[in-house]
Parts: sequence; structure tokens; C-alpha cells
Amino acid sequence: MAGIDIEGLATVYPNGVRAVDGLDLHVADGEFFALLGPSGCGKTTLLRTIAGLEAATEGTVRIDSADVTRLEPGKRGVAMVFQDYALFPHMNVSENITYPLKVRRVAPATRSGVATRTAGELSLQGLLERKPAQLSGGQQQRVALARAIASEGKVLLLDEPLSNLDARLRLEARTFLKKLQRDLGITTVFVTHDQAEALALADRIAVMDSGKLRQLGSPREVFARPSNTFVANFIGSTPMNLLPGKVTSESDISVVSVPGGSLPAATVSVPADAEVTVGIRPEYLTVASGDISGPALRGGVVVAENLGTQSLVTVDCDGTLVGVTVPEEAEPSPGSAVVLTAPATRVLLYDRESGELLA
Ligand code: ATP
Repeated sequence: MAGIDIEGLATVYPNGVRAVDGLDLHVADGEFFALLGPSGCGKTTLLRTIAGLEAATEGTVRIDSADVTRLEPGKRGVAMVFQDYALFPHMNVSENITYPLKVRRVAPATRSGVATRTAGELSLQGLLERKPAQLSGGQQQRVALARAIASEGKVLLLDEPLSNLDARLRLEARTFLKKLQRDLGITTVFVTHDQAEALALADRIAVMDSGKLRQLGSPREVFARPSNTFVANFIGSTPMNLLPGKVTSESDISVVSVPGGSLPAATVSVPADAEVTVGIRPEYLTVASGDISGPALRGGVVVAENLGTQSLVTVDCDGTLVGVTVPEEAEPSPGSAVVLTAPATRVLLYDRESGELLA
């Protein structure tokens, strides 16, 4: 088992693109770690630089405290699973799983033992003689994982491990992967552009943008307290409301005026009259019933979308559209007037210029 330490890492392609642009990161021993971000943010390049498949231009990569920055991939102690699995079509499952051992000239009897054991761990019993073409997508994905695990790397690197599976299989494979990682306790870094997958699987998530780290934290932290408006926009199945606001009073509980009214905000450090961007998730807004005396937003319902057990209601607050999720049975009808409230602890204030979370 091993941690990964990345310091001042930059990976620049020959065309001048700084795909990884000065990154510091520590992945703890045994951690399940997600690299998340929009297409082109550099997450695959970072994973490939850890693996040694791309050369670092600046900085260092350490695995289990050893500097591997200039080592070739085969000598780094990493096992990687590619998005397309990269199974050998002419080899059966057993041969695919034990290929890394064959390269290392491990004896056939030992290899066969590893194949049987790993196939057991990955629910591939009974499939050892089959060729990849005779397997389902989910089974192929598990063979690729089995091969990586059998190679006994210190860390496991997964590039979009679930993206080739259909929606139902993906959920099944997600649960399987989470349990497997926990049982094996192997340090694992996986790349995904699917924030639901990162939130569901990872112990910690690194959100990237333009080769840089924008936030590092637990799924809960990244969801509830995005440290800038980029992360606030990116995380969440329904996007966070980001409203222009102005702090109007300064005390333990401040109030921010926003289009359609005001919201409470738990901050003591933002001065009165400061122009801010107010972040509030649709899930943390409530449609109030009865008279409201405290801070609230007032507006008219534009449209309601069915999300399953909940509805996403869009409210026009003085010309600014605000999303609020409500239980399906409490969906207000289009055109009706509503009052929205939120607890101060859920209202986040961001610097209007830099987009960074204000303390
Ligand atoms: P995706 O989710 O679309 O795979 P990503 O976040 O993994 O994206 P990368 O594939 O790491 O992003 O790409 C980061 C940047 O580097 C992009 O601007 C991309 O165009 C560029 N890039 C990637 N591979 C190369 C290459 N071989 N040569 C030049 N530029 C590249």
C-alpha cells in the first residue's frame, strides 16, 4: 500500500498546451480518490502522468515516498485500467488476468492460482476460458480490473472506469467497485467527468479546471461548500443558484439582498454594502407556507420539471430565475406566487470578482 505525493507538477504537450498546470496533491494510503472536471480540464493527463505514460515537464511524483518522476511506467508500481479496458482479444480471461505475471516470468502454476483467486474476488468464476468477445461489458470491465489487481501494483489508476457501461450496469458496477476497493484497501485514483459517480464513490474529490486544482475535499464538503463559483456551478445534479447580492447588515447573522427579496447569511467577516455573488442550492430553498416575517424571496412560478420524487421549480424573482426543489406532491402551479426561504447556514457568499468563497 502506498500514498501518492504530487508537487508542483506540470505536463505540457509539444503543442504548448499546459494540460496539468502546477499541481500539488497528496493521495493518502488506501484512499479512493476522484479526479473530476469538465472535458479538457487535464484529469486524464494527470492520471497518465502519475502512471508515467506522459512525461512531467515540471515537478515531482512520489509513490510510496519514492520519486518516480523519471521512471518508466513498468517500474512505478502502478496498475492502470483504461477506459476501453484494452483486453487482449485472442487471450481468454485467465490469460488476460495473468498477463502481467507472465511478463514477469512468474511460474504457470502460480499464475493459475492468482487467476482463480482474482476471478473469485471479481465474480468472474466460470468465465476463465472465455474470450473477451464472449463477455458482457460489465464482465469485460471486471476482467480489466482483475488484471490490474493481479499485477499487484501499489496503486490502482482508473480512467473513466464505468463510462462504457449502460446506466443500469454502471450503478451495479459502481457498488461493486466501491466494495472491492474497500475490501482490498488499495490506493486508487480514478478519473471521471460524472460528478454523481465521484460523489458516490470517492473518499475525496479533486475538482480540476484548466490544469489546476479548484477544490479538494470530501464529497460532502464539495457539494455543500464549494470553495468557488466554478465548483458551485459544476457540482450538483441541479445547478446551484448564483445570484447577485449585497450584504445589508453586519452582525452574527447578516442579510443579503438579492433579486426578489433577501436571504440570511451566516457570516461576520463580509462588510455591509459588499457586492457579492450569493450561492444557494435548489435543495436548500423551501417554498414557505403562511406569513413570513424574516428574510425571504418572492416570485412567480415559471415552470416545474419532474425529477422523480421531487420537482425542480423555476421561480422568476424580479427577472432573475431561481431554482427550488420541492416534493412532487407539493409542486406549485405555473403562474402562482411563492415565497422562498433558506437557513443561513446554507447561504454561501462569493467574492463578486474572483468567485472565491468568502469566509
Ligand atoms: P476528457 O474528459 O475530455 O478526456 P480531460 O479532462 O481528461 O478531458 P485531457 O485529456 O487531460 O483532459 O486534456 C487536457 C488538455 O490537453 C486539453 O486541452 C487537450 O486538448 C490537451 N491534450 C490532450 N492530449 C493531448 C496531446 N496528446 N497533445 C496535445 N494536447 C493534448
